[in-house]
Amino acid sequence: MSSVNRMDSRALEVARACKGFLDEEEGLRLHDLAKESASLGPVVEIGSYCGKSSVYVGAGTRAGGGQLVCVDHHRGNEEQQPGEAYHDPDLFDSEAGAMDSLREIRRTIRAAGLEDTTLLLVSSSSAAASLVSVPLGMVFIDGGHSFQAAQTDYERWAGKVAHGGILAIHDLFPNPDEGGQAPITIYRQAVASGLYEELQTTKTLGALRRR
Ligand code: MG
Repeated sequence: MSSVNRMDSRALEVARACKGFLDEEEGLRLHDLAKESASLGPVVEIGSYCGKSSVYVGAGTRAGGGQLVCVDHHRGNEEQQPGEAYHDPDLFDSEAGAMDSLREIRRTIRAAGLEDTTLLLVSSSSAAASLVSVPLGMVFIDGGHSFQAAQTDYERWAGKVAHGGILAIHDLFPNPDEGGQAPITIYRQAVASGLYEELQTTKTLGALRRR
């Protein structure tokens, strides 16, 4: 199926143009996973930045009749701070002396036509987790990539995935020379728990179905 038939064309155009670090094939896979699991409960994305992945996930969630909650403090992850490899000076709020990607994601979600079905939650992952007690259709973890941040995201959110729902994790690098090992470490923990069925991996995107 062509990507245009697979996903709302306006949203796809916005996702393609948005700043971010997600391959289109991974984005379309997220779209499809969200679409098939949105009826089981809300979909949660941890780490939204400017909204590139949020648009793929959000369009799928809407197509599946659900709602997406995008959790991000919008102050950038470890690698996006001034002086770091992924710092974007356009997103620096000099008055706050800090990164701010909130305005950008708000624009992205509006442009994609997803405001009615997408909730932006400006919060740390763990504060947001303590507010959520309903079973979730899908959890997509793409937040901080330190071991501690990834571990916290896994511990606080994975247990909330509904039976039959999806746990997706971005940036899996089996070869340590290609990328940080925190995301794949939590992915392996999830597999070892025996609670999930491993689905096909798409590039660096892992997907597990809660049994
Ligand atoms: Mg990522």
